[in-house]
Amino acid sequence: MSSEFKLKSIVRSNIWNLQPYSSARSEFDLYGSGKNNLTLLDANENPKGDLNRYPDPMQSLIKEELAKQKNLPANQIFVGNGSDEAIDLLYRIFCEPGKDRVITCPPTYGMYEVSAAINNIEVVKIDLGKSFELDLDGIMKSAAFTNAKLLWICSPNNPTGNALLKADLKHDWQAQNYTRGGMMDMPFAPEFEAEMLNNQRKLDQLFGAFKGIVVVDEAYHDFTEHISFINRLEDYPNLVVLQTMSKAYGLAGARVGFAFASPEIIELFNRTKPPYNVNELSQRAVLEALLQTEKTENEIKEIVINREFLAAHLNSFDFIKKVYPSEANFLLAQVDQATDVYNYLRDNDVIIRNRSSQIADTLRFTVGTRRECEEVIKTLRTFKKN
Ligand SMILES: *Cc1c(COP(=O)(O)O)cnc(C)c1O
Repeated sequence: MSSEFKLKSIVRSNIWNLQPYSSARSEFDLYGSGKNNLTLLDANENPKGDLNRYPDPMQSLIKEELAKQKNLPANQIFVGNGSDEAIDLLYRIFCEPGKDRVITCPPTYGMYEVSAAINNIEVVKIDLGKSFELDLDGIMKSAAFTNAKLLWICSPNNPTGNALLKADLKHDWQAQNYTRGGMMDMPFAPEFEAEMLNNQRKLDQLFGAFKGIVVVDEAYHDFTEHISFINRLEDYPNLVVLQTMSKAYGLAGARVGFAFASPEIIELFNRTKPPYNVNELSQRAVLEALLQTEKTENEIKEIVINREFLAAHLNSFDFIKKVYPSEANFLLAQVDQATDVYNYLRDNDVIIRNRSSQIADTLRFTVGTRRECEEVIKTLRTFKKN
């Protein structure tokens, strides 16, 4: 399959040759050890205070908890200052400025292009199809496919809301069937069997043929019913999966995101990142949030219910032509006079996102509380078309 993937051949040579940064403390296991009677005179800190110590550069407690929850070893996890840090690091690890190129599939998340511009990397764009589906043929036939270093796939995609790539339909089927009280090994309908095999073949082709890294950005994964690409890391050595605390976990202000990949790729992240890239306050907040699984699950359920509520109401306005199906915590809508509607909402203190520059006449609504959904609906009721 993708056994011929050669990591070294696609990593920038200066990065490949880097020595990992080592603090005096990282030479022994301080943070995970539970030792707290040490005399710490190595880092020029003030001996007093609550935030007087440098944070754990390897975020061991977070990784330990994530490893349990995601069912993979801690050395396959990178914790970053938002997934935006992981995005930037992927450029810095793999892409030679002024020389290399990457593939994106617009309309999609803006940071892939922003980071490319900062790192002076060419972006080759293979647009999504009419229903915002991934143009896999177009990607694989493009001239860039043979030498691009990164392929960015956001799934569920921002701002379209749909899943672009599915990790394993068989697993999806089993998991969904099981939650509905069925058997884990419920037999498949023949047409589903064909779809499942077809999905598998497509993934094998894509990951096998691409010589660079396929990045699957799962920022909105918590809102879907599909299983995560984390489950395919063993099959695809050139896969990097991104997730974040910024959306479902309500910690956008803490700036913490994750990359999941092979131990070899994560080691490159560790060498390249700033030593103390995630601050102490954020590490504490993340650990606490990760332990409150029930609270988060309930919030996600509520957002999904509100999403369907908001979609139904948006559909009832004659100037809203279409609300796209969403597996995320936002809705994209095709709207007559989109910019007028956007301005009208803004003038009435309701801030949404005008996506018309990316996709003609579209607005993106984040799904908030029930009251916030009602507020946007109420305000839209008073909008007068020209
Ligand atoms: C919001 C978002 C992120 C999250 O970025 P953070 O830096 O972790 O806040 C990543 N990818 C996509 C597609 C997003 O929409």
